[in-house]
Amino acid sequence: DKSLVWFRRDLRINDHAALYYALKQSRAVYCAFIFDTDILDPLLKDGVQRDRRVEFIHESVAELDAALRATGGGLIVRHAAAPEEIPALAKELGVTAVFAATDYEPQAIERDTAVAASLKQHGAVLLTCKDQVIFEKDEVLTQTGRPFSVFTPYKNAWMARLAAADGDFFLKPYPVDAYLSGLAPPPANVRHALPALAQMGFEKSNLQELRMPTGMSGAQQLLDDFIDRIGQYGSARDYPAIKGPSYLSVHLRFGTVSIRTLARTALQAMHAGPGAGGAGAAVWLSELTWRDFYFMILHHHPRVAQRAFKPEYDAIRWEQGEQAQEDFAAWCEGRTGYPLVDAAMLQINQSGYMHNRLRMVVASFLTKDLGIDWRWGERYFAQHLNDFDLSANNGGWQWAASSGCDAQPYFRIFNPVTQSERFDADGKFIRRYLPQLDKLPARRVHAPWTATPAELQTAGLKLGTDYPYPIVDHAQARQRTLERYAVVKKAE
Ligand code: FAD
Repeated sequence: DKSLVWFRRDLRINDHAALYYALKQSRAVYCAFIFDTDILDPLLKDGVQRDRRVEFIHESVAELDAALRATGGGLIVRHAAAPEEIPALAKELGVTAVFAATDYEPQAIERDTAVAASLKQHGAVLLTCKDQVIFEKDEVLTQTGRPFSVFTPYKNAWMARLAAADGDFFLKPYPVDAYLSGLAPPPANVRHALPALAQMGFEKSNLQELRMPTGMSGAQQLLDDFIDRIGQYGSARDYPAIKGPSYLSVHLRFGTVSIRTLARTALQAMHAGPGAGGAGAAVWLSELTWRDFYFMILHHHPRVAQRAFKPEYDAIRWEQGEQAQEDFAAWCEGRTGYPLVDAAMLQINQSGYMHNRLRMVVASFLTKDLGIDWRWGERYFAQHLNDFDLSANNGGWQWAASSGCDAQPYFRIFNPVTQSERFDADGKFIRRYLPQLDKLPARRVHAPWTATPAELQTAGLKLGTDYPYPIVDHAQARQRTLERYAVVKKAE
């Protein structure tokens, strides 16, 4: 009759599956969030004291607590190892059920299995429900009942499932509002205060300087802003210098907005017709479907977290040794000599965000121009992306490395200069992050080494000093990559 909702990556109060089920089934519902030392301590051990995500969560948790208090509840916040703390808290509160949203990442599954086992010893249960995705696990399958491995037919089946008679069910918001009187405030004798960042060993990052909106209110602000330009999404999304995408990924990561709300928004715009922005909305919905797709792939093929989706790609021999280490450092620090690649890496380093087009460009550059194992890049993104999600990140990297399901064919190798000319024609994005190239004419800014001495002089640029020469020749790298990937061709 009393239960606990364990908030994890669903930091909101509205349209919340676990909260809804708990409120519907229990007389009194407590709410908790654990700053999990199993996740945070390794960061501190690596010397990371400023992590935008930790601060984003901290701010979002504060807003969630305030929202719960305003409706008669409140959040119990702890800084501890979740697998022990949740069962201990359940015992302290005398609850028999803990509700949480299903998590699909291998480590989270392990954690939840441990929590469930431990709760069981005290006669309590862990009840998980779908919340992060529209369709999970086996909900969208091929006609022969197998999981999809190609995106377009998956998307068609995904759309068809929504259009079916019971389709509305999957998009319907969980009407939490109607049951909020069941929320119980933290009992006075139960420790619940939100610890300060410093108490947990962290410092403020540059989140405020970036003016990155956090919490449910932040998600709403970004969504309102995006709805006005959703119609242009299809044509604007590929150009990093313009405000094309929604910037909602970090909010989807931490659940400050519900995926159902976003999918409904897209569908409404689509139904308004192509002229009213429906065409852009359809492209955006398709991106949200990619998100479901990669969650589904990770569920059916958890091995992709370590290995290639297509096993024959594990035979590829990546560059190793000192040169590879040096090249990797140059890539990480944005000094490859390819301006679009470098500007993109400065974007992630300074803000924790990287435009989707640029994620593809830098991932291709690392794997196919530098011949470095995609897992190195995947790990770097995991450390730096605010929106890091194992499923989408792994999917994106394996797409670029050609080892993934429905990936880019291995012989398709992005030319970093051509990509730059196409998607940042005036070099506006490049100049934002690399001011030393600001005065170069547009036709040179994509490849400064092609500038004449006179052009360099006019631009006040000394190559090799102000900006590096390219660390690799693209044409030669391309050749080496085709040879490297020959093992795959043989296997095919
Ligand atoms: P929008 O263009 O507004 O898209 C809306 C939402 O759709 C995104 O927030 C995201 O949830 C989803 N989405 C869009 N594109 C994709 C995609 N290709 N795959 C899966 N979901 C998608 N996305 C992450 O959320 N986390 C990651 O760790 C991540 N790593 C990536 C790594 C690589 C190498 C690549 C190529 C892509 C990666 N993506 C990742 C996908 C995509 O780049 C980001 O989702 C997007 O740039 C986020 O910005 P946005 O919210 O403004 O996107």
